[in-house]
Amino acid sequence: MAKSKITPMMQQYFEVKRNLPSNTLLLFRLGDFYEMFHEDAEIGARLLGITLTKRSDYPMAGIPFHAAENYIGKALAAGKKVAICDQVETAQPGKLVKRSLTRILTPGTTIEDNQLESTRNHYIAALEFDKDGVSLAWLDLSTGEFQIANSDNVDDILPVLSSIDPAEMLIIEGERDRWQAQAHDGSSQDELLHFLSRRAITELPGYQFDVDSGGRTVLDTLGVINLEGFGIALNHPALGCAGALLFYATENLCAKPENLASIAEYRSDNSLLIDPATQRNLEIFESMRGGREGSLLNAINETKTASGARQLEQWLIAPERDLSELERRQNCIEILVKSPIACSEIQDLLKAVRDISRILGRMQNRLRNPRELGGIRDTLNQLPAILDTLEPFKDSDLSSIATRIHPLPHLVELLNRALKEELPSNISDGGYIAKGYDEKLDHLLSLTTDNKMWLANLESEERERTGIKNLKVKFNNAFGYFIEVSKSNLGLVPEDYIRKQTMVNGERFVTEGLKQKEKEIFNAEENSKRREEELFAGLVEAILEESSPLRETSTALAELDVLCGWAEISRHWDYCKPELEDSDSIDIKQGRHPVVEQMLKKEALGLAGSHTFVPNDVSLSASESQIHLITGPNMAGKSTFIRQVALITLMAQIGCWVPASQARIGIVDRIFSRVGASDDLARGNSTFMVEMNETANILNNATQNSLIILDEIGRGTSTYDGLSIAWSVVEHLHRQTDAGPKTLFATHYQELTQLDKHLNRLENHSVSVKEWNDEIVFVRQVVKGAADRSYGIQVARLAGLPQPVINRAKEILERLESDDATVTVSAPQPRAKPRKKIQVEDDSSQLDLFG
Ligand code: ADP
Repeated sequence: MAKSKITPMMQQYFEVKRNLPSNTLLLFRLGDFYEMFHEDAEIGARLLGITLTKRSDYPMAGIPFHAAENYIGKALAAGKKVAICDQVETAQPGKLVKRSLTRILTPGTTIEDNQLESTRNHYIAALEFDKDGVSLAWLDLSTGEFQIANSDNVDDILPVLSSIDPAEMLIIEGERDRWQAQAHDGSSQDELLHFLSRRAITELPGYQFDVDSGGRTVLDTLGVINLEGFGIALNHPALGCAGALLFYATENLCAKPENLASIAEYRSDNSLLIDPATQRNLEIFESMRGGREGSLLNAINETKTASGARQLEQWLIAPERDLSELERRQNCIEILVKSPIACSEIQDLLKAVRDISRILGRMQNRLRNPRELGGIRDTLNQLPAILDTLEPFKDSDLSSIATRIHPLPHLVELLNRALKEELPSNISDGGYIAKGYDEKLDHLLSLTTDNKMWLANLESEERERTGIKNLKVKFNNAFGYFIEVSKSNLGLVPEDYIRKQTMVNGERFVTEGLKQKEKEIFNAEENSKRREEELFAGLVEAILEESSPLRETSTALAELDVLCGWAEISRHWDYCKPELEDSDSIDIKQGRHPVVEQMLKKEALGLAGSHTFVPNDVSLSASESQIHLITGPNMAGKSTFIRQVALITLMAQIGCWVPASQARIGIVDRIFSRVGASDDLARGNSTFMVEMNETANILNNATQNSLIILDEIGRGTSTYDGLSIAWSVVEHLHRQTDAGPKTLFATHYQELTQLDKHLNRLENHSVSVKEWNDEIVFVRQVVKGAADRSYGIQVARLAGLPQPVINRAKEILERLESDDATVTVSAPQPRAKPRKKIQVEDDSSQLDLFG
């Protein structure tokens, strides 16, 4: 397009557009719309389902300003970035209004309320490999949480990366190709690439990951002179990633992020690590079917606030190995369990608590509205009552929470006095400051009201004075206030009326008095609006001055919320307080699976008979009873049992009470699992390959302090291969003479039960069933000793296999179990000749059908 043809507004548009990163849609504010032009309009119209129009000779598509959030959400979900260019001054006729880029929204940096799930953290992460190993930094811009981690082992970082589940990831340009070249099937790098393939990735030039300048950026952003207060050295290798995050956030917010006050180091040696596969297998954050329903997170979440739900998620992301912190949480739960009234009072009070940390985050980053000031006020108003309820427990661990709740009486008094009860969500709506707070504002408002009264009276006065019965005083945007007289009454119009406009049915007039009043009304309205905005800014400032006590209060309330919820769950489901210790054993009496137990209860509602969960004991120790081999028919409850042991251990290490009558848990460093033969088709790997990858990861990383649960490993290949692999895995886990990782191994390979003769720390257990009239009844009880048989045919019958098939299977089995191993193939005859005999291997009941 020739330059001369471009209008000044389009020049302004191109100016902004030119500097935007690729893949970004520019939303350009034009009056009540955000418009997209040219290619953006075409992409936007297709993506958002809006109409493509033409302006002069180029395409254009627009979305209404007030509905923009929805459309922006759609664009972000489709992996686009969205740049917002707003009008930054009031429009005046005939003059090009000033516009500027106000922010760029990307999947990871958006902080708008509507784009975020309130109960989940919303992280953006930066990742880098170099000579110092792998570094990670992550940030929730909406709440200000900021962490870094470094390790020379990817396997230490993958667990936390997978559990924070970042919405967007920053990496160095071209890095992915390098990793790709190095990764081989099943390596940790491969797992990492798989992880990256499922999220929004932004590639940045390498210099943005420089450690020195990253360190300086972090200091500058946090407003500190060193990072010692956070226990972080200025040459920490992950500061490069932290710097890249801050650089990126600053670009997208179009200003330095203002709500970051601290940075913490995540240390894998302080945490219980759970690799991504185990997180999926144990259904910690999501169930296998996807979604929260059916996950551990869901089963132990009784929080009343969004920030409480996020706190719970954070504790699950980084389960602890620090006994004193865990015992603090446990003790708080104990007090709340023993004081149910106080606990439910607190929960009621928490219902009116708003999401202070996100409100502060938006306020500090220039997204402000009156309703959010109300959120701070309403929360502060709850605090005295919450503190009163906590008062009787001031000598207990609960005081560690109470002392971090700051009621800020000055601030709450100010907000109560200044704000109306109901508040608009837009500053421009006005009318949010309470009467009596500011004399000047009250005066301006009374002028407006007086003048409006004057106007209201004017109509009747003028009707009387002129004798025009249907005379009307009206208002429109183009002419302001005017008097309307119909055609038939024009003769009665007095001298002092000044004609303004002629209509089909009459004429419109003004008077000097009316003009004067109009001016006064406009001035008063304009002035009162400006005054209100000044007062608003003052209140925001007053709040931001208290941002650190407010933030601390918010965290304390979130913790209190989680702990009250856990107390309620513990009471309701009869959980116990586990004893935690630095030992190599796990002892659980009457343990239950937290999710299955709840599910059974739900299903049982309205059903007759027993549908309660059958509790089971377990006693493992690295040096004595290290490996439990669990046998039993399909459906007996093996998987449920071994998972419940892992989940109880995990629950104990987030400070939660556990579904058992008694539990003694020696702190573990890692939990590993290989459960079920889940297909991972999306990755194009065979089930067997995935299974072996996961097993390799376990064998390479498990320590004596780890807990391993293995379910049917070796199932994905031929029987002999599978059995051999399972066999040698068990031997490997038992290879040290004194101790090894605590392991629960569920298997249908009966042969493995022989291993107890050779491996002294291996025990056979089985999930018992009862036989009754050739049918089996699941008792769900785990007992010592191996299962005697597999009951496959009975289970098949339960599954609804046709009776003739069952009968025939029984016949074959009987033959196989007797010495006579010859089975004649039954009619109808297949096209091919009948097969050879079925031979039975001496000792193993394996079939070799085809000789
Ligand atoms: P397996 O691994 O032996 O095939 P599962 O652990 O998958 O068996 O259990 C099968 C079903 O039995 C589960 O879906 C669950 O509903 C039920 N179940 C398992 N353990 C128990 C238990 N202890 N009490 C009650 N029901 C159970």
